[in-house]
Amino acid sequence: MNALRRLAQYAQAMNRVILTHSTLLTALKDHLPSNKQRQTIVDGLLYAYQLDQECEILPIAPMEWALLEQYHDADFIQELTRPRDVIDQQSENYKTMQECINDEFEELDDDEQELSSSVQDEKFGLSFDCYPFPFMRYYVNLTAASTIQLARRLVNSTNETESRRTIGINWYGGRHHCHRSRCSGFCYVNDVVLGITTIRKMCSGGVFYLDLDLHNGDGVAEAFKFSKKVSTCSVHRHDVGFFPVGTGRLDVSVAGMYNVPTRRGLTDEDMLWIIENIVLKLIEKHQPDYLVVQLGCDGLALDPNNEWNMTIQGYSSVMRLLLGNVGLPIMVLGGGGYNHTEVAKCWTFVTGTLLGYGVDKFDEIPEHRQLDHYESDGFMFWTDSNLHPRKMRNGNDLEYLQHLKSHLLSL
Ligand SMILES: [Zn+2]
Repeated sequence: MNALRRLAQYAQAMNRVILTHSTLLTALKDHLPSNKQRQTIVDGLLYAYQLDQECEILPIAPMEWALLEQYHDADFIQELTRPRDVIDQQSENYKTMQECINDEFEELDDDEQELSSSVQDEKFGLSFDCYPFPFMRYYVNLTAASTIQLARRLVNSTNETESRRTIGINWYGGRHHCHRSRCSGFCYVNDVVLGITTIRKMCSGGVFYLDLDLHNGDGVAEAFKFSKKVSTCSVHRHDVGFFPVGTGRLDVSVAGMYNVPTRRGLTDEDMLWIIENIVLKLIEKHQPDYLVVQLGCDGLALDPNNEWNMTIQGYSSVMRLLLGNVGLPIMVLGGGGYNHTEVAKCWTFVTGTLLGYGVDKFDEIPEHRQLDHYESDGFMFWTDSNLHPRKMRNGNDLEYLQHLKSHLLSL
């Protein structure tokens, strides 16, 4: 169906919002070296506001290991998912974790022997910022499973309910840097590629992937560079030496693989300008059937990266702008974000936006097990520092943004 006609239909009905959940995956994600304990803080806030009760919850189950090979190379997967008992035992809650894993993975695990292979680890990028961590193999399985299973549900739900838009949310996902056979940038598996591939297998139409993380979504762009059915567009911070180094330049953009390289200090207004004047035009050009958005929020003004100057309400406005102009089912994924309480607030607020809530719902933070983390915020959702951008020079003037637009729209 034509996207505009769909949008008119959708406007009459509330969105159908599906949210992924797995207690085990939350515990596994808490072990991720770059974001220790983040997922528990995110889940804690989402559930404290009882947003889960207004979504359809999609429980995530372990998947067949072979599904990882729908994108990744077999020898990489073999190395990534081999047992590493010595490292697993370094987990602070080893026994509890092992019991949960035994329960859930019972039928999938075999009795493989641990092999020592540090040379192989180097080859596959399992070093530097992607070193092996406790229960990594199970983390990889469930992270990929979360986006694959949500993708299936999104397509099935869209086929069932023509008159309501389905929005799938997976804050576990969005690991956009991982390559076909190499880990990169805290990403050990590319769930985004696996999820989009799943959508593509289930429908004949196209997918538009929009990556709003501070860092270029290089792994996803690389995977679909030659695809006629999947277009990618990454809006990211770009500079010589900025991660992922050597990627994301404007002049390597081609039709269907767009880079929007921005300078330091990007504000909410700049991002909204880019969405309205560039991204929406590209979506219109490609006429996709599904939109996938990676909403890493390391571009927040309060993120330790200290590069962009966006606010939580800015990310929410971006989602509202997309919802109001794109009549398609949407899959929303997580990604980067290193100020953990601000990430929790951002993704909770965006979930609220997708459910139709405004700013007022979020005030004093409700009592819950993670409440102590908000002590320095006076236990309030909104603070002087997250309501407004910081004082910071903005390198993205209108002339520069116009230059990006004219180049990208001419491809
Ligand atoms: Zn990032």
